Amino acid sequence: MYDIAVIGAGINGCSAAYEFLQEGKRVIVFDREGIASGGSGAAGAFISPKFSKAGELKEIIEEAFLYSMEYYEKNFSNFFTKAQLLHIAKDEAEEESLRVFKANTSLKLKEVKAEVLDNLTQSAREKEHVSLDAGVVNAKTICQKMIAGAKFVTQDVKDIVYEDGYWLIEQQYAARELIIATGAYESIIKEPYIGLRGVWGHRIDVKAKLQNPYSIHQFVSISPSSEGVIAIGATHNVHYHPQKSQEPYDLSKGREELLEKARRTVNLDEVEIIADYTGLRSGSHDYMPLLGPLVLSQETMACCEKKIRVKRPDYKEFLYYPNLYMINGSGGYGFVLAPYLAKMLKEHILSGKEISPRLSPARFFARWAKKS
Ligand SMILES: Cc1cc2nc3c(=O)[nH]c(=O)nc-3n(C[C@H](O)[C@H](O)[C@H](O)COP(=O)(O)OP(=O)(O)OC[C@H]3O[C@@H](n4cnc5c(N)ncnc54)[C@H](O)[C@@H]3O)c2cc1C
Repeated sequence: MYDIAVIGAGINGCSAAYEFLQEGKRVIVFDREGIASGGSGAAGAFISPKFSKAGELKEIIEEAFLYSMEYYEKNFSNFFTKAQLLHIAKDEAEEESLRVFKANTSLKLKEVKAEVLDNLTQSAREKEHVSLDAGVVNAKTICQKMIAGAKFVTQDVKDIVYEDGYWLIEQQYAARELIIATGAYESIIKEPYIGLRGVWGHRIDVKAKLQNPYSIHQFVSISPSSEGVIAIGATHNVHYHPQKSQEPYDLSKGREELLEKARRTVNLDEVEIIADYTGLRSGSHDYMPLLGPLVLSQETMACCEKKIRVKRPDYKEFLYYPNLYMINGSGGYGFVLAPYLAKMLKEHILSGKEISPRLSPARFFARWAKKS
């Protein structure tokens, strides 16, 4: 018997499990392939803010950035590299955004060392840029360390049933609370309002002569070099899906794209590709993450349709799955957001602290219900 069961051992599931383990709870984690075998295993895992002008997403990513920088440093310093980040605008529109960002941000901005500017191509050097202290985490190892105190089961979970106050998973494991952290892969809970999109990504590790002490982001992200190796990621491919596409993914095309984009930013001559990583990011329709209990759509429609079809429905009026929560939809910022979201989820489950409606999956139910 467990206090908490988590399905999905990516950074979201592992961060959630870690929060409860720290509280002394009995935690079981399931993944169909292994720890960080989905999007999380592919990630360059750069920890950075969002360099846009304004908006809810920028705000939450910035809150999460400040939180996760301290969190990784405090809890996982051996698997976290602090590195200055240089973000260079791709085009004129982004140059304008960066100017607004720089004029308004409360984050501490830094000068860029001449040796780093020397590594840039002429065109990258001419673009507007911004630089600050940021970091990179060792994606797979951090996920493994986070759930070291949990029971881990390799299992493709298909069967979950709520009985007598417990979730029974695959007829074998019982847990009081169930957290669904399955990323962009096919969902166990079939609810029509959860419209998560998968965006396929490819990252490579290369051996290169380039001595780069910073994380450099422009068309792709380039990691600081470590023992002659740099990571370059990632592609954004909305057409390929590992569970839906007929054709296999074309690795060589992805490699070419990554190198071509990296070479627009840095002078990168001879390189040897030593590893490929691929996976799906999971994004919601409004790009904000999904955190909290899931609405029972049919039951809520049947009982309370009038209350739903008002301009601003009260999410408390909806009916929810008992003791079941989702943490998902982190897009390209999973490693930035997960520790922050997991803390909120723990406070919600253990102390009843409300989760902001801007993150609640109920917002999608409300929109879906009005249309249907
Ligand atoms: C190439 C690439 C580069 C990226 N770079 C960055 C970056 O630099 N910084 C950053 O912050 N983010 C980055 N991201 C985004 C980040 O990786 C994601 O936001 C994050 O991995 C999402 O984590 P997750 O736990 O929600 O999903 P996932 O990591 O996809 O985890 C979901 C897990 O659930 C398992 N699962 C699914 N269904 C079941 C089931 N029925 N039973 C059991 N297990 C199941 C899957 O096997 C998978 O392991 C990148 C993503 C990609 C693809």
